[in-house]
Amino acid sequence: MGISSTAFQKCINPDCGAEFDCGQALFKCPTCGQLLDAQYNWDKIEVPDKLNEFAKRWANRNNPLDFSGVWRFRELLNFCDDKYKITIGEGQTILQQNDAVAQYADVKPGCLYLQYEGLNPSGSFKDNGMTAAFSHAKMVEATSCACASTGNTSASVALYAHSCGLKATVFIGSGRIAFGKLSQGIEYGAQTIQIRGDFDDCMRQVQDVCTKLGLYLLNSLNPFRLEGQKTIMYRIIEGLGWEVPDWIVVPGGNLGNSSAFGKAFYELKQLGLIERIPRMAIINATGADTLTELVNEKKLTWNNGSVNQAIIDDYYAGLTAQNFSPHTCASAIEIARPVNLKKCLRAIDICNAVCRAVTDEEILDAKAIIGKHGLGCEPASAATIAGLRNLIAEGIIGSDERIACVLTGHPLKDPNVTVDYHKEKQGKFSNPPIEAPNDIDEIIKLIG
Ligand SMILES: [Zn+2]
Repeated sequence: MGISSTAFQKCINPDCGAEFDCGQALFKCPTCGQLLDAQYNWDKIEVPDKLNEFAKRWANRNNPLDFSGVWRFRELLNFCDDKYKITIGEGQTILQQNDAVAQYADVKPGCLYLQYEGLNPSGSFKDNGMTAAFSHAKMVEATSCACASTGNTSASVALYAHSCGLKATVFIGSGRIAFGKLSQGIEYGAQTIQIRGDFDDCMRQVQDVCTKLGLYLLNSLNPFRLEGQKTIMYRIIEGLGWEVPDWIVVPGGNLGNSSAFGKAFYELKQLGLIERIPRMAIINATGADTLTELVNEKKLTWNNGSVNQAIIDDYYAGLTAQNFSPHTCASAIEIARPVNLKKCLRAIDICNAVCRAVTDEEILDAKAIIGKHGLGCEPASAATIAGLRNLIAEGIIGSDERIACVLTGHPLKDPNVTVDYHKEKQGKFSNPPIEAPNDIDEIIKLIG
């Protein structure tokens, strides 16, 4: 198959730069083993002159592709024909201005926005990526697929797989998955394999299993997943009346989102659809802070694609020597060997980004504040507000700048952490249930 006219896959390693047709399911460069990107021949795609032209699609919502918050922007991820596109109504998410949460982070009123990706069909941002990756899976005629997951990926994969008739197998680490997420994968009919190990162990296994059995891999190594995740940024811009914020704040786990966001802004600027690129803050948990360590301490950079691999190898060898396994209450970002590290370094370069790590205590307090004043979120999402609060205190982000925090998952994803915080352990903002005798006067006294 030749290189298609509108899109192709390209190795991110500039010393390699190998190109492949989008009709192939590869996920790593067969020549050098590095990550692949989806790239476009923009001169062959009819991209609107202005971003606000995409708003016209709201008037045509009975077309499922126009209803989708991902495919509404389809010219910006034009790697497959409409006939292959799978949609279940993803991307109906909202950007909420929230002054009460802003006050907690010491941000001026009117400046803080929360992007609720938990409103997706499976309850997390992953659906943005899965609608794109499953469309690619249909295009390459895959019949079986697999993923490794800390939870949200497995829920999303299971939902999309049964929606388009693929068999799905998900790999999860034993005891390392939030209850809400595990329940989804099982309920949606995926074959669930619980490996005695952590996410990084699952990630290694799933890649080998996919190669051996010819399964379609749905982790964020898959370049088409990240194409779908770009649309979260388009919707933030849309939510701001087609204006670009000053800062995007995002949790850092496997680093697919930060990678996708950087690529989204780079392309929009290249196409003349935005005039400037916002800055980005990527927030790790202190128990899983590979990115922060490599970027802030070891000074690892994108360096025009010539990333210093020795720094990464040394760091990972150190983790192996200590038998290190990441640990945080924010299970979605409990990852020590992020697969999209190099793409994320590129995004850091594009967005002049900063990286920080926050403690579990900071995450849980911020989560309680988001829950009390907003629509709530899972622990990893709250790392954004905890990180923002610290970056404001540091003076890196100005309190009058316009900031959009990406809340990646729904609060019901991880009910155990929530109940634990409010009822069992009791943090700074706990709201425990009050025990009452079965007596009307006593009950009235307690409420009063
Ligand atoms: Zn290559």
